[in-house]
Amino acid sequence: MIRTRFAPSPTGALHLGNLRTAVFNALLARGAGGRFLLRIDDTDRERSEQRFADAIRADLDWLGLRWDAEFIQSERMALYEAAAERLKADGRLYPAWESASDLALMRRRLLAAKRPPVYDRAALRMSDTERAELMATRPPHWRFRLEPGVIEWDDGLRGPQRIAAEAVSDPVLIREDGQFLYSLCSVVDDAEMGVTDVVRGADHVTNTATQIQLFAALGAAPPRFAHHALMVGPGGEKISKRLGGLSVADLRESGAEPTAVLSWLARIGSARPVEPLWSVEAAAEDFDLSTFGAAPVRAATADIMQLSAKMLHDAPFEAVRARLPSEVTEAFWLAVRPNIDRLEDVLDWRAVAAGATPLIAPEDAEFVAEALALLPPRPWDGGTWAAWTGAVKAATGRKGRALFLPLRRALTGRDHGPEMATFMPFLAKP
Ligand code: GLU
Repeated sequence: MIRTRFAPSPTGALHLGNLRTAVFNALLARGAGGRFLLRIDDTDRERSEQRFADAIRADLDWLGLRWDAEFIQSERMALYEAAAERLKADGRLYPAWESASDLALMRRRLLAAKRPPVYDRAALRMSDTERAELMATRPPHWRFRLEPGVIEWDDGLRGPQRIAAEAVSDPVLIREDGQFLYSLCSVVDDAEMGVTDVVRGADHVTNTATQIQLFAALGAAPPRFAHHALMVGPGGEKISKRLGGLSVADLRESGAEPTAVLSWLARIGSARPVEPLWSVEAAAEDFDLSTFGAAPVRAATADIMQLSAKMLHDAPFEAVRARLPSEVTEAFWLAVRPNIDRLEDVLDWRAVAAGATPLIAPEDAEFVAEALALLPPRPWDGGTWAAWTGAVKAATGRKGRALFLPLRRALTGRDHGPEMATFMPFLAKP
C-alpha cells in the first residue's frame, strides 16, 4: 500500500511552495487508496514553535487535506538514539571536532583550488589517542561515513539520477549539543512508518543521495523519491517569509477558495490544464506525477483568485452552504453567485437586498419617482422586473440603458450586480 508523508518543520508559516509538496503527497496517497501521514519535524528546538505546528494543521484542514496519522519527531527521540547507536557500532557514524570556522576555511581553500568543497575526513584519519584526548575535552559532532560509489535512483519527476558519493560531504547527523539532525530523523521515521513514496522539493536532491545510503546502513529499503522544482515568487525569486501574500493564511484572508488553491496546485507545472477540481478526491483521481515538468513554477496569486471567482460562479449551493449565514437560501445564492469574486461578497448582496441607499442622479430624479410609483404590488417574482420596466417604458418613453440603469441604481445603489429579474424578488425595499 502506498504511504506518503508531509513533513514540515514548524519554524514558520506554510506558503504556496510548501503546500504544493503537501498536495502532491496527499494526492499520490489518496489516488492509490493509500495512507497520507503528517510528520512534524520539530527536532530543531530553537526554531520550532507550537503555534507554527498548529497553523500548519489549520492550513491543511482548510485545504481539505486529511491525514491518516500524525507523528511528532520530538516524541520519537528514543528511536533516533537507537539508530545512532547502531550506526556508531557499525562504524558508520564517526566523531569530528572541526568548528564551523574550520570548515568554512577548508571550504574556501578547496574552492580556491577549484576542487569540490567536500569534507576531507580528517577526523577519520585521527589516531585513537588523539580521538580519546579530544573526546575528553569537548563533545564532537557525528558524521555519517558515505560508502564510495555512485548512488542511483529513478526519480519520479526528474528521471534517472546518479550522484557520486565522493562528491558529497559525509553528512553531520548529530550536532555537538546532541541534537539529532534532519536526515537521521527523517530516514529513521520513513523506514519505521513504512513510507513508500517521498515527494519533496528539488533542494533535497543531494540529501536523497546520502539518505539512500543511510536507509541501507539501517537495514531498510529506501522509498521511491520524486523531487519537484521549487516554487518561486512572481519575479522568479526564492519564496521567503518576507515575500508577502504567499502564505496560506494570506491566501485565506484574501478570500481564495480552498478548492481553487487545491486545483491550481494539483495542476500547475504539469502538462495538464489548470481547471476546477471540486474536491481532494476529484483532484486525486487522475493525479500523475509523471505529467509534471522540472521547470520552476511561479506563484501566481492573481491566477488563483481568478480561478477562485470562476469556481464560485459555478459552485452549487451545497459546496458553500456551510460557510454562509443560514438566512442565505439556495435561490439567493444562485441569484448572486455570478457577481461575486469572494464568498464573503454574498454578504454585501445580502445588505443590498435588505435595503441599499438608492443612487439617483439629479437628472433622473423625476424619472425614478415616476417609475417607483408604477412598482407592482408585492409579492414580486421572476416576472416582476419585466412587467415593471415594460410599464415604465410605456409611461416615460425611455428605453435601453437610460431606462434600466437608473432603475437598477435606485433599487440597489449600484451600477452593476445580479440580473434584476432574479434579484428583484429578494429586495426588502422599497
Ligand atoms: N522537514 C523537512 C523540510 O521541511 C522535510 C523534508 C522531507 O520531506 O524529507 O524540508
